[in-house]
Amino acid sequence: MLLPLVTHPAYSFPFPGRHRFPMEKFALLNRCLSEQGLLTPANTFRPGQASLAVLHTAHCPQYLTRFCNNKQTPQEVRRMGLPWSEPLRKRTLISPNGTLLAAHLALSHGIACHLAGGTHHAHYDFASGFCILNDLAVTAKTLLAQGKVKKVLIFDCDVHQGDGTAAILAQEPRAITCSIHCEKNFPARKAQSDLDVALAPNTSDAEYLQVVASTLSNLIHQQQPDLILYDAGVDIFSADPLGLLNVSETGIRERDRLVLELAKAHNTPVATVIGGGYDDDRKALAKRHALVVEQAHQLWCA
Ligand SMILES: [Zn+2]
Repeated sequence: MLLPLVTHPAYSFPFPGRHRFPMEKFALLNRCLSEQGLLTPANTFRPGQASLAVLHTAHCPQYLTRFCNNKQTPQEVRRMGLPWSEPLRKRTLISPNGTLLAAHLALSHGIACHLAGGTHHAHYDFASGFCILNDLAVTAKTLLAQGKVKKVLIFDCDVHQGDGTAAILAQEPRAITCSIHCEKNFPARKAQSDLDVALAPNTSDAEYLQVVASTLSNLIHQQQPDLILYDAGVDIFSADPLGLLNVSETGIRERDRLVLELAKAHNTPVATVIGGGYDDDRKALAKRHALVVEQAHQLWCA
């Protein structure tokens, strides 16, 4: 089979090159996967803009209107951490639909990868830490409302806690949130996921992989989810400027393989999102984000 990949040219747009947020990484990831022959017109899916009905499942209508019309307060813009622009508005409204599309594709193919997404710090009515709309919460809420799944597991391995996802889904027992993150990282005030695993700074490959494997294995057995949304953030990398863990590139590859292997072994569909990653070497960063797609390809298509 062909591995379904979801992406959109609007994800990267001209952006201050020295900004901490590497907006060009999405286009670089596309290029990296094209060069490997993993991304071709035959397996590329392009999402449209999310409808307000979809976004309202997880977000406050007034907040959406404020963001779309560039009417956020200076304090809100600071917390968002990104300069508002028309291209930012456009990509922000498309990306949640990309994760939703990847989830639908995963439900029919077993696996699908969104080459963006994982904006897990976005809350119901405010942006935070480069995250404006919470694609994971929007996708979980929408699939549950559509009756496509009875239970969904959000397995978040970004180095930062998925606080927005946990808060938005706190009252939704059919969406299980799990965050494995470094305890010392942003956000300073953590939300409460259904399961939080807080790792000490400098945790390295062996311990990290053991924790990821046992945590996911237990969750799959206990919860029997119909779908896993996997946030494969690569800011766990030892040299990531915004992460405090000590995981190698080999460790990231191993993590992605074991997560996908566990899902596949249990016949649980899995949709991946790329999550965080902030290396100043943007090409190396894009290659790191490609690892999860490479592992998916090897497991489902090789
Ligand atoms: Zn992160």
